[in-house]
Amino acid sequence: MSKSKVNLLSLFILLFLSNSFVQAQRKSKDKNEKEGISAPFTNPKLVVGIVVDQMRYDYLTRFWNHYSDGGLKRLVGEGYNCKNNHFNYAPTYTAPGHASVYTGTTPATHGIIGNNWYDKETGKEVYCVTDDSYASVGTTSDAGQMSPHRNKVSTITDELRLHTQMRGKVIAVSLKDRGAVLPGGHAANAAYWFHGKKEGSWITSTYYMNELPKWVNDFNTSDIVEGYKKPWTTLKDISSYIESGIDVNNYEEFFKGELNSSFPHDLPVLWEKNGNFDILKNTPYGNSITTDFAIAALEGENLGADNDTDFLAISFSSTDYVGHSFGVNSKEIQDTYIRLDLDLQRLLNVLDEKVGEDEYTVFLTADHAAVQVPAYLTDSKISGGYSDSKATMVKFNEFLKYTYGTVDIVKNSSNEQLFLDHSMIKNLNLSLSEVQEKFAKELMSYGDFSSVYTGEQMWANSYTHGIPYILQNGYNQERSGDVLMVMNPGYIGYRSKGSTHGSPFPYDTHVPLLFYGKGIKKGETYQKTEISDIAPTIAALLGISFPSGTTGNPIGQVIE
Ligand code: ZN
Ligand code: ZN
Repeated sequence: MSKSKVNLLSLFILLFLSNSFVQAQRKSKDKNEKEGISAPFTNPKLVVGIVVDQMRYDYLTRFWNHYSDGGLKRLVGEGYNCKNNHFNYAPTYTAPGHASVYTGTTPATHGIIGNNWYDKETGKEVYCVTDDSYASVGTTSDAGQMSPHRNKVSTITDELRLHTQMRGKVIAVSLKDRGAVLPGGHAANAAYWFHGKKEGSWITSTYYMNELPKWVNDFNTSDIVEGYKKPWTTLKDISSYIESGIDVNNYEEFFKGELNSSFPHDLPVLWEKNGNFDILKNTPYGNSITTDFAIAALEGENLGADNDTDFLAISFSSTDYVGHSFGVNSKEIQDTYIRLDLDLQRLLNVLDEKVGEDEYTVFLTADHAAVQVPAYLTDSKISGGYSDSKATMVKFNEFLKYTYGTVDIVKNSSNEQLFLDHSMIKNLNLSLSEVQEKFAKELMSYGDFSSVYTGEQMWANSYTHGIPYILQNGYNQERSGDVLMVMNPGYIGYRSKGSTHGSPFPYDTHVPLLFYGKGIKKGETYQKTEISDIAPTIAALLGISFPSGTTGNPIGQVIE
């Protein structure tokens, strides 16, 4: 090849390249003019937030082989699985759990420090969502007198309402009042919960409305709920349930009227003795009723029908009731999860049909996990057991009488915290921080606790990891107590059968976190995520403001 030919060729290539460059530039300019620069947010027609009450992370893996293709497996397989997701505060209870998922922060900031707590101002115990200034709607009982007024910050659902000029609808449903009221936030269109007893109806509070909408009345007057008054048998052959313990054992409570804990549980026979419609809460049928009602809400409220993102917050409570009664290793819990998976499949199918397959976004998590039945742990030679809190109190009261001449220096003991009489301490000319420290040292000498911290320590330090970090995130300066106790790992205090939760340990903090649908990448991570990251992740996805108290961070890798 001669030099001139090479030059001609390079000139030609150069011309060709620059021409295609100009063309490409023109094309992208045209595209921008036509379609605009792509927006830094996603606009699903509906966000569905699912909280499964008392769901351990290992329920995803342990029962995996029994799940359908269209429920949990669909969320895991086509969505993003945060496999190392934890609660970052204690106590790990239902009300703080739901509040933290939806506020993107912890009890230290949102103030929901328990289901119930001792109110220092009035000296009385308060329930997280009761509000006497409102009346019940849908029942003559006081079960509807609820509001979110004790939550001090905004929720992701509140921020969606603000962002859409209140056009985006927010509806929250759960068997438990707190499982609906706290996720719905302050500005929800509605929160509905289930009133059992002899009524078996979905109810609400005048905080939201003065009368139930037609679709709720229609649901309540239908025979849908009554249809679940039938024996609870295992969905599949019980011999295929090899991922749980034997059916009859010493670790489970019975329904009143049963002689042991074996299947089937004959609900029509047990009905009156176990609170009529309330018995359904303790079975997987409670989750099916919740699904039926959520689907009715979807249709009745036309959720996901226009371009303003709506939000449906669902909390499945029966998993928690079944876990408390039968324990995390029971046949009952296995059957409850296999059936919940089918309810999720049913819900996703309706969402595909009503909202459109690529038009909605889902997240699924839990409000806490749960411990193995401690008696089963000790029988298996694994550390765990029951703290004799009465014996501890007797010993501690002797110490109080000997040291201060009175036991009244402690005003209340709740949620693993002691509340002291500050004015008495002042009158006795004692220093509060010294008294707190003395109490902590005394309690630590008993051997029942793995650690005891003082309120003063929570005020004075900024912990970044470990148990004190978790306690500090659960410690609200206005509402929490003076001494914070942590029982030994695997130990619980309050009953001898079934499972419970509340501790800062992984068996209570490790829960699933799945994202799925519009704007969500497919993938998984073992990187640690925290429960307070969920709300800012959804806020980032939607391009809306973070809730007012947010302390978590968006999990960037889940967003497309
Ligand atoms: Zn719970
Ligand atoms: Zn519970």
